[in-house]
Amino acid sequence: MSSSAPDTEGHCALCSEPTTKSCGGCVDAAGIVDDATKTFYCGPACQKTDWKNHKTTCNRLKATTTLYQAGKLLRRLWLVLRPHTAASDLDKVTVEGDKIKVFETVSGDDYVHPKPFALSLFSDDKVKETVLSHMACGDAMMSMRKLTHSILSKRVLDKSTFLATCDGFEEVVLDLKNAQMKVLLFNRKGKHSRYRLLDELANGAIYQHCVFRVKLNATKDWFAIDLTNAQYGLFDTVIPWEEYVRERVKSVLSTNPWGTYNDHVATAMPHAYTESNVRYEDMINFTAKRLDYLVEKWLADKGFTANELIGLKASTFEEKMAEIEAYAANGLAETHELAKECGDLLIMSQHARRHDVKSRLLMVRKVGCEQVGIHV
Ligand SMILES: [Zn+2]
Ligand SMILES: [Zn+2]
Repeated sequence: MSSSAPDTEGHCALCSEPTTKSCGGCVDAAGIVDDATKTFYCGPACQKTDWKNHKTTCNRLKATTTLYQAGKLLRRLWLVLRPHTAASDLDKVTVEGDKIKVFETVSGDDYVHPKPFALSLFSDDKVKETVLSHMACGDAMMSMRKLTHSILSKRVLDKSTFLATCDGFEEVVLDLKNAQMKVLLFNRKGKHSRYRLLDELANGAIYQHCVFRVKLNATKDWFAIDLTNAQYGLFDTVIPWEEYVRERVKSVLSTNPWGTYNDHVATAMPHAYTESNVRYEDMINFTAKRLDYLVEKWLADKGFTANELIGLKASTFEEKMAEIEAYAANGLAETHELAKECGDLLIMSQHARRHDVKSRLLMVRKVGCEQVGIHV
């Protein structure tokens, strides 16, 4: 994302007259899309004559801008959702240079009875985002998959609009270059024992990172959608795929069909399928479903489609994004307790056996969702 302010004056693309007017179709792209600049015109006559030259660029920039806005929206919604699934009992957060030290007390049943995420410990939004994203790429993939797909996959109804509809949807597992975590996690068991730096981090272990990969219909270009790179000190969400791989990726470990990441985890780590982990996953699923529902309801109440929302002019888009963010935050807060109960039902179903995990998940999800009016 470009950090420099877009130019306010230039020269007409056709006759070279100095002017402050520019093409309204792609004006938002400057400042949002890398390398995008405004296309200036002295007036409608020159703009009309030049359209055959500018059309391709203009449409590419419009579609790409929409995708970047979609990425921004998804990341904001992920950050609204994440405090409800970040099972952690935070005691203290300190910033030292480029490292954030997080001190937490591990009681052993955090996933069973997670404390509310201590948002009050954060005065800086970037520090908060970094901690919320720490080791959370898999969670983001599970939580945000459906919303990402529903926002980006709708058909374009009006051929004159160039929205971020995508027709390639993949889940990619990566080994990142320079993937040094910005967060150092210090645990202690029980109130009186000392904090200890989490061993794997102390030994510099490398974690696999996972991101979405989508192909923008209008341009056939592939993009990474990385909702959790704040854990590595990065705050951009949509990145052209080639650039992403060239600059940030050591190796691509696997490219998987949409919706298969959880299966991959379940197969690779059957030992992780413990009661508390399943309960935790269920809470994530419930909360994600609740977010999907809130977004759909907000859109229906306002008379927007998701496509129309991300295609709005930048200033209106920012305004609407703030509204939907507040609406989702309130809605999730209202059902926070219910999400926990939803998982507790699972714990109570003592008779069920481990091999029956899938059917129990379905049962629990159904009960929990019906309580808030979501039909599954
Ligand atoms: Zn001109
Ligand atoms: Zn244009």
